[in-house]
Amino acid sequence: MTRPVRLRIAPSPTGAIHLGLARTALFNWAVARRCGGRFVLRIEDTDRERSTAESEAAILEGLSWLGLDWDEGPDLGGPHGPYRQSERIDSHREAAGRLLEAGSAYRCFCTTERLAKLRAGQDARKQTPAYDRRCRDLDPAEAAVRAEDGEPFALRFAVPPGETRVDDLVRGEVVFQNAEVDDWIMVRRDGNPTYNFVVVCDDVAMEISHVVRGEEHLVNTPKQVQLYEALGSEPPRFAHLPLMLGRDKKKLSKRSGDVSLGDYRAKGYPRGAILNFLALQGWALDGETEVFSLERFVEAFRLEDVSKGGAVFDPDKFRWLAGEYLRAEPVGDLVRHCAPFVAGAGQLDPTSQRERAEWLAAVAAGEQERISLYSELPERIAYLFAADDAVVWEPKAEKNARKQGGAVLAEYLDWLRPRLSKGVDAAILRDDTRAWIEERDVGFAALFQPLRCALSGKAGGPDLFDVMEWLGAEACLRRLASGVERLAVVREGER
Ligand code: GLU
Repeated sequence: MTRPVRLRIAPSPTGAIHLGLARTALFNWAVARRCGGRFVLRIEDTDRERSTAESEAAILEGLSWLGLDWDEGPDLGGPHGPYRQSERIDSHREAAGRLLEAGSAYRCFCTTERLAKLRAGQDARKQTPAYDRRCRDLDPAEAAVRAEDGEPFALRFAVPPGETRVDDLVRGEVVFQNAEVDDWIMVRRDGNPTYNFVVVCDDVAMEISHVVRGEEHLVNTPKQVQLYEALGSEPPRFAHLPLMLGRDKKKLSKRSGDVSLGDYRAKGYPRGAILNFLALQGWALDGETEVFSLERFVEAFRLEDVSKGGAVFDPDKFRWLAGEYLRAEPVGDLVRHCAPFVAGAGQLDPTSQRERAEWLAAVAAGEQERISLYSELPERIAYLFAADDAVVWEPKAEKNARKQGGAVLAEYLDWLRPRLSKGVDAAILRDDTRAWIEERDVGFAALFQPLRCALSGKAGGPDLFDVMEWLGAEACLRRLASGVERLAVVREGER
């Protein structure tokens, strides 16, 4: 019987969204969307000490920002709620009781000291640490009496003999020898349930059909499969995604650079580029096409095509993708996305941005070819906001300008002054200037290099006459005057 397609993401609200979590969310979401299934968001907050409401809110906000919408979740509710693990304790208790009753779980009264000693002995003998199953054979009735008398106990899963087979959609068949699986703790002595126990309880209750998650959870899978069987439930299909690796081929972590979604948002990576990049972490469209839309991804994505090998995180490629997306944006979107960075740099606050919307759109369009991240715009356009007599000249721009000298610029300024009395019209000025250069036969570089340096301090950039229009007549004249002056001062060593 085929079951309804239901996938989930089950983040622990203990920090920011790691790129690995974002990729897991994307892959789960894509399968749900392609199959017309449901995508569930469940918050795994059983670690009460490390879980925070802020982190939960940030996870919801981050996933929404990515556009990975869920159909059921703590904020939306749904037929299988509640969607916060800590609110499902009653159902976990009920399952624990059932497993105890059936003999699939047992009470373990071993003290922390005994377990520590056991472990130390195993360590000394270089054995894999494992519980010696001392309490597994206790008479259940006797154990119940001890528990009632208040003796603290943990609840352990009684791992059955034999082997456990997992037919993983990515990794194929994986066989685990049960003898190598410890009688693991389901509920700790302090009453707190463990991940392996509650994740299965909740996945069963939420009728999850596919569990798609990072490879680091493969070791948990035999325990979970055995638990499904003990609960009399059909296990889901599993798909373990390859680890995202840093360039050092180790698991991607803070050591390898920025790893949280928030870091990349803060740096101004376009949303589409982030999704596209995540899609490429362990999957490829056709081995050639690297830039593709989210729709295309959803259509083409199959868990069976995910690679087994680790996906190496390539920051240069990420940045390149960012540029591809940024340059393809309609300028209206570009301005909207750059706006917080422009305001953050103190260039134009939101009100001024509204008042100068057209101006900002023209300026942003002028730089679109030259930036890859939204955050790069402020730096590129900072010259427009500089004091006219203190434009910072980049060394290359200054070198070019000095090579030409300031004489032509000075003449041009005299010619220009009366022409700007009614403001700057880039189109007219462009034609007239060209005619002026040709008439005087001075060569374009003789004017344009000192002119660009005086206006922007840069060696390259958008069309010079556009720049003049953006600056306005007065600022242009002041910058040229200051440029002529600065170029007239010959610095030591230049003669
Ligand atoms: N809370 C677990 C995690 O964030 C969920 C693992 C799973 O998907 O089973 O890693």
